[in-house]
Amino acid sequence: MSYLFVVLFGLAFGSFLNVCIARLPLGLSVVRPRSECPRCHHPIRWYDNIPVLSYVLLRGRCRDCGEPISLMYPVVELGTAGLLLAAFRIDGPGLPFVRDAFLIMVLIVLVFTDLTERRIPHRVTVPAILIGLGSSWFVPVDSRPLVQLLMHWGVPLPPALTSFAGAVTGAIVGGGLFYGVGEAFYYFGGRRKQYLGFGDVMLMLLVGVYFGVPLTLMTILLGSVLGSVVALPLEFLNPRFRRFAWPYGSFLGAAAIYVCLRGNVLLEAYLRWSGFAT
Ligand SMILES: [Zn+2]
Repeated sequence: MSYLFVVLFGLAFGSFLNVCIARLPLGLSVVRPRSECPRCHHPIRWYDNIPVLSYVLLRGRCRDCGEPISLMYPVVELGTAGLLLAAFRIDGPGLPFVRDAFLIMVLIVLVFTDLTERRIPHRVTVPAILIGLGSSWFVPVDSRPLVQLLMHWGVPLPPALTSFAGAVTGAIVGGGLFYGVGEAFYYFGGRRKQYLGFGDVMLMLLVGVYFGVPLTLMTILLGSVLGSVVALPLEFLNPRFRRFAWPYGSFLGAAAIYVCLRGNVLLEAYLRWSGFAT
């Protein structure tokens, strides 16, 4: 019963995320005006705005002018529902689920705004970073390795501060690494082209706040692997793709969604395998 509830919420939120993806990179309001067809500008009727179902019933076309509706809409709706369900099965009801669900939805928006417009809007990242910092007081963030280091040096951190410290160090490592790499590319790349936008720095600041240091590093690793696995074969097969500006943020965002769900399992397995943990 609660699973069905989560799926229905996921579909409804997914529908709202589509509005965010279409409007936020352009600096438009997500509340007004009502959604309309981008070609004939006819307002979308409420019964044509039901997640997934309307797309199927309309066979993917505008009721008024027949313009094809982007497949992205049902994909985002179904994806949001599926990912929230996965998070609910892992976390169960409670604050950790609310926090994970919020992070996943923010990441879905950023994956698609970077994919479609090459934008990672500050209007999304800045509030999400602040909410992440605030929620670290209620839902624990991995504070390794800072707290272990402090204990090793004989400087105990008050328990209430450890989670917050994990969030801040995660942000420093995630955002800092990307800022540093971006500057290095800019400097050594002959200052011709900015390889990593500031949006990527903000995205990794955001990921760091929610994950702490270890899972932030895992996100960077998996996102880079994912980007290479997708981009290199395409660039090899078709020279056209060599001039393509790949949306690095989309790969990082997709990796972060995976890490949000499975990262801890993967990390513990790795630590056991490498002998760091028993
Ligand atoms: Zn139309």
